Amino acid sequence: MAELLEHLKPLVGEEHIAVREGVVVVSPKNTSEVAAVLGFADRHGVKVRPVGGRTKLGWGAACEAQIELSLLRLNRVVDHPWQDLTCTVQAGCTWQALEDTLARHGQFVALDALWPEKATVGGVCATNDSGALRHRYGSLRDQVLGMTIVLADGTIAKTGGRVVKNVAGYDLPKLMVGSMGTLAVITEVTFRLYSLPLHSRSFTVAADTAAKLAPLMQAIRDSHLAVQVLQMRGDASGFALDVEINAHPDAGQDAMLAEIVVKNGLSLQPGFWLYAERDKLWEHERLILKATIRPNDLASYAQEIVDKDGSFVAQSIGIVYAAFARDETTVRLAEEFRYHLDLQGGTSTVLKGNSEMDPVVGMSNIGPLMQAIKVQFDANNTLNPLVNQTSSQPAI
Ligand SMILES: Cc1cc2nc3c(=O)[nH]c(=O)nc-3n(C[C@H](O)[C@H](O)[C@H](O)COP(=O)(O)OP(=O)(O)OC[C@H]3O[C@@H](n4cnc5c(N)ncnc54)[C@H](O)[C@@H]3O)c2cc1C
Repeated sequence: MAELLEHLKPLVGEEHIAVREGVVVVSPKNTSEVAAVLGFADRHGVKVRPVGGRTKLGWGAACEAQIELSLLRLNRVVDHPWQDLTCTVQAGCTWQALEDTLARHGQFVALDALWPEKATVGGVCATNDSGALRHRYGSLRDQVLGMTIVLADGTIAKTGGRVVKNVAGYDLPKLMVGSMGTLAVITEVTFRLYSLPLHSRSFTVAADTAAKLAPLMQAIRDSHLAVQVLQMRGDASGFALDVEINAHPDAGQDAMLAEIVVKNGLSLQPGFWLYAERDKLWEHERLILKATIRPNDLASYAQEIVDKDGSFVAQSIGIVYAAFARDETTVRLAEEFRYHLDLQGGTSTVLKGNSEMDPVVGMSNIGPLMQAIKVQFDANNTLNPLVNQTSSQPAI
């Protein structure tokens, strides 16, 4: 450890190195320093975990790293040419700081991040999350135009561009989004932007079974309504469908929505806090699963979750967050859900579980492909190695 500290001091300065729980936390100030640290680690067999706001380190590949590479000093919005509807931001900038800057020109990155005051741009990209806005704007991969990344051996690469139709060749940012810090360290991201919605209104439709909401969800999807959010949620008290419309009130869309709801034998109420519904799942110590399924299977899956005493929030495109009590049946429950999802062609991930759980559940059939890509980007397995691949001793 002492030797490692001595090697790192000239790369980032002594005051930007700390030791936390046996791990050396290094805080570089720019892309070049990130490259210097990675190049050193890669040459000496030292394992590195990139870290942003630390809100989500338990999710995905649990790795034993000797260095935590903190991106928190790379925290600037680099450029916001608002007339071009793009913005370039450093990876350690919090989502909230980014949103605040963009809002000054009435713009935003169309993604609703959880805990935006802590989560960083790099962490949000590395974990590929999205919330209710995904229904209207697509996934994070659709929002990213370009990136600066540092490969495991310290090579700096700029990939993608700053215009919506940018480069020929491979679209590497799409690979980086969701790579969980295993392929490269993201240091800068260029996003496409949208105007903040001016005329949003939220509504909720309640029902005692998920099956009653399924045809309504389908009818809304098939309609010409300007729907921004279509979210189902449920617990022991019942089920609800949240709908957010983004159209000028004079367009009469509220009345059109009400008509569709009534045709389906249900009634429309004003809705509140629909973006906060996901956060509530984390309010208690519970098992949390994320599942991706076919939209058509959503209602039956939702009903199964509630029948097993769980609660859930799901996007109509088929992304489900489910929470269950954490007790001795937890592991069995997760395995049961994984089994059902395998049959239906879906996947599931344990976001918050207990120590007996494999964090990435249901990914076995894509493992070899991911391994092959990992070897191409990180031959020495330096970045966020899986536990069973970590070499026990660094070479210094
Ligand atoms: C359970 C859960 C559900 C979430 N759901 C949503 C959602 O629905 N919508 C949404 O928008 N957000 C969602 N989030 C994202 C949330 O905003 C996270 O806080 C964010 O993704 C993580 O950012 P962080 O800076 O805390 O990253 P960290 O927790 O510090 O790191 C997360 C992972 O990213 C890697 N990493 C971090 N920075 C970099 C970098 N610069 N380069 C390469 N790898 C890096 C780390 O090594 C680690 O593997 C969710 C988070 C959690 C925990």
